[in-house]
Amino acid sequence: MTIRSLSYAVDEHDHLVRVDEGYYCFAEENGWSEAGSSLGRSLWDYVAGHELRKLQRLLVRRIRDEVGDVELPFRCDGPQVRREMNIRIVARPGGRAVLFSARLRSEEARDVPQPLLDPAAPRAGEPLQMCGWCDRFEVGGEWIEVEEAARRLELFNRSELPPLSHGICPDCNELLLAA
Ligand SMILES: [Zn+2]
Repeated sequence: MTIRSLSYAVDEHDHLVRVDEGYYCFAEENGWSEAGSSLGRSLWDYVAGHELRKLQRLLVRRIRDEVGDVELPFRCDGPQVRREMNIRIVARPGGRAVLFSARLRSEEARDVPQPLLDPAAPRAGEPLQMCGWCDRFEVGGEWIEVEEAARRLELFNRSELPPLSHGICPDCNELLLAA
């Protein structure tokens, strides 16, 4: 990947007021089709899953009201890559604007592509829960990496994959609440 970092900012209503070049490039690389019309939209339109939205809203509120500044690890995987990133969230002093800066910590090509992480893959059947923060999947009550999930669910050579339902795993729930 050529993009090592991206940033975006929201106003006091959580509407995106600024996004940088890295944001657009990253969006394109990851198939976020609506990124071009991001400005003016609510940040929360881009966070998948009710629980993660709720937790992130709480976090942003705390950052504005008391904390000021946090940095957290998260994953942003693709079918071909495993990506560890950090996000720094900073409230502008005196204002209600909040700046988000994400940077890449590590990126590894996968030995085998993982179509479960491909937004364009055909899907049908029972939904599979994915953590929107660490990109792990819940299988049989355990949160596991995509390779392991595909293996346990015997997803290889299937023409259709389970639809994803975005949630949050207990570890990330704790991480976001403790930030
Ligand atoms: Zn998680």
